[in-house]
Amino acid sequence: MPSKTVTKTVGYSTGEEPYPFENRIKAFFHCRQCIEEKPDGISPRDWAQLEVGWTRYGIQVWCKRHERNVEHFHLMGNKVRSVTSDEDEADT
Ligand SMILES: [Zn+2]
Repeated sequence: MPSKTVTKTVGYSTGEEPYPFENRIKAFFHCRQCIEEKPDGISPRDWAQLEVGWTRYGIQVWCKRHERNVEHFHLMGNKVRSVTSDEDEADT
């Protein structure tokens, strides 16, 4: 079966550029305490122990190493659009 490339994009209705499934993070979240304790020679990415998930109010970033809040976004009841990477869905 020939392979096919599926590019799944979701765009805003405002005419902004659609965003594909790739890392477009401009600034990462970090636990301040983890950064202070990070050994030399280890990147923040490799050292991080973060969990990200939904809460009753929005989205929370949590440090597993220190069991502390890093960031908690209150969505103020607003609806948000998300893009979920699902390769099985992209093949259909
Ligand atoms: Zn930490």
